[in-house]
Amino acid sequence: MALGYQDTPIIPDQQWHVHDGERPQPRIVVPGNASQLPPVAPPSDALVLFDGKNLDAWESVKGGGPAAWKVAGDGTCEVVKGTGNIRTKKHFGDIQLHVEWSAPTVIEGDGQGRGNSGVFLMGLYEVQVLDCYQNPTYPDGTTAAVYGQFPPLVNACCKPGEWHLYDILWQGPKFHAGSCVAPARITVLHNGVVVHHARELQGPTQHKRTACYEPHAPVGPVMLQDHNNPVRFRNIWLREI
Ligand code: MG
Repeated sequence: MALGYQDTPIIPDQQWHVHDGERPQPRIVVPGNASQLPPVAPPSDALVLFDGKNLDAWESVKGGGPAAWKVAGDGTCEVVKGTGNIRTKKHFGDIQLHVEWSAPTVIEGDGQGRGNSGVFLMGLYEVQVLDCYQNPTYPDGTTAAVYGQFPPLVNACCKPGEWHLYDILWQGPKFHAGSCVAPARITVLHNGVVVHHARELQGPTQHKRTACYEPHAPVGPVMLQDHNNPVRFRNIWLREI
């Protein structure tokens, strides 16, 4: 089974094609038991984006109306297929972001079709959400990949139905006179395991293409992806840094 693509461009400064299925798979690390525990309360100065009660901090990307995902009443919300991505009404620059997500317990689909969603920084830069527990796909699209650019250092997936924890440190790119003078940088912990450390991004997320920077605003929303899979989210908060 082909896991990815060989007919895509080579990623700059790498030896691999975009979404190259031949690229080595990230090593598997079994995380601790945080994924089986109840959510930990946010720090006192956090801006809570979703605490289980409502999606008032969010809007639909399609049309800008209320976020149409399902608030389940158990502290979670769930992607409603076809309603599109949702994003925060407020925009942010550099942040510490905490997101918890869970892929369906009943496994459906494989590769990119199993528990696919995404966390986008500034609405443009995707940290992949995907159920890659015993589910290989092209490494730059696996769980916690900087999609299309950098696979995670390791695969720290928990089991379907358990709660994945993402802790993301984000520094947006800087632009001057129409060009990028400092790329975006990201550090990501997946279930408490470092999967990107001060990684310099190549530009906003692309599919099957290399990325490059075009000047954009110094702030942007946090966006969550509707990729037609009923992924659930809970306990989303950030701190501006
Ligand atoms: Mg995705």
